[in-house]
Amino acid sequence: MQKPIQMLNLGRQYEYMKPRIDAAIERCLGHQRWIGGPELKEFEERAAEYLGAGCALGVSSGTDALVIALRALALKREGKEYFVPGDEVLTSPFTFTATGEAILRSGATPVFVDVDERTFNMRADLVEDYIKTHPEPEKIKGILVVHLFGQAAPMGEVMDVARRHGLFVVEDTAQAFGARWRGKKLGTLGDAGCFSFFPSKNLGGFGDGGMVVSDDDGLTEYMRILANHGGRDKYMVELLGYNARLDTVQAAVLGVRLGYLDEFNERRRRTASLYNRGLEEVAGIITPVETEEAFHVYHQYTLRVTDGRRDALREWLEEQGVATMVYYPTPLNRMKLFEDRAKTHGGLETAETLSRQVMSLPVEPLQKDEETTYIVDSIKEFMGRVEP
Ligand SMILES: *Cc1c(COP(=O)(O)O)cnc(C)c1O
Repeated sequence: MQKPIQMLNLGRQYEYMKPRIDAAIERCLGHQRWIGGPELKEFEERAAEYLGAGCALGVSSGTDALVIALRALALKREGKEYFVPGDEVLTSPFTFTATGEAILRSGATPVFVDVDERTFNMRADLVEDYIKTHPEPEKIKGILVVHLFGQAAPMGEVMDVARRHGLFVVEDTAQAFGARWRGKKLGTLGDAGCFSFFPSKNLGGFGDGGMVVSDDDGLTEYMRILANHGGRDKYMVELLGYNARLDTVQAAVLGVRLGYLDEFNERRRRTASLYNRGLEEVAGIITPVETEEAFHVYHQYTLRVTDGRRDALREWLEEQGVATMVYYPTPLNRMKLFEDRAKTHGGLETAETLSRQVMSLPVEPLQKDEETTYIVDSIKEFMGRVEP
């Protein structure tokens, strides 16, 4: 067994699909159409078909996907280029920085609402609660819902609250390409779905990249314009946009990797079930929960260590040659960036607790069962040997 066991082994993945990747890059070298080349259109069409989305638009990163989707909604629903401070977008504090950052970039104020301790995802009942007690509910514009670690947020309840209060829903699907909610692919349930192709994501490129999807043609048109300098015609621009396109060569690589996505997601699920079986009964550990409505794709396999020994367990595993990570050590509301720029609903106790308890184990799609078993045994040895 090769050690250390990494969180992810991109070299192993590349070896697995090398001839196809190399051929795809060779084709780009042949035609030299680095911006807007044929691989981009082909990838967008295949991705839309895979997801069951009306339209997919490749962009430069997952963060840009979120900003562009939010700004397109400001244009479409409010007739303005940006939201204004005081316009509120509700989201989770237990996520990657970019989720909250994108709300600020769109001009709106993020409002952090606490999460469910079992799924780590946003609680729709708290969203409802926040709206009901708001002195000016018309300031609340939408929900940016995150499907954390590859598992669907409670989309039935989220969409229901949104509909009753006339809010938009943008899905931060950066960690959940291929995941489902009641059989439907995530990213296709709200007004727009945003994806990241950061190399470590379930569908990762060879650099930064992202995508937005929507069934709404008007919204998609705004998103296309914003990603291309803000104009239909680049020499007669109407809006303040971005140069936020997806490169041809990234689309070529992603096209190959899309062909392996279902297999890789299944492999992640297999590793997760081995972990679950091995760790379910271990005192002091809570294994992740997959809800009945979800098809979880385990972007991260994240467990909770409830006896206060998380950091000691991580050190032990490091000595055993096993990498681990903490996603996320700090809820967004406690970051300086959001200090004066965001609001919170209540104390966000669950997000705080989770940030002290969670740790993620390696779920490399090509991880071998013996590696997973070794990690399970190492954890059991530590948890059983040393008293808290
Ligand atoms: C990765 C990620 C993003 C940002 O994607 P980039 O491609 O890195 O810009 C946004 N939200 C979540 C939840 C993510 O995990």
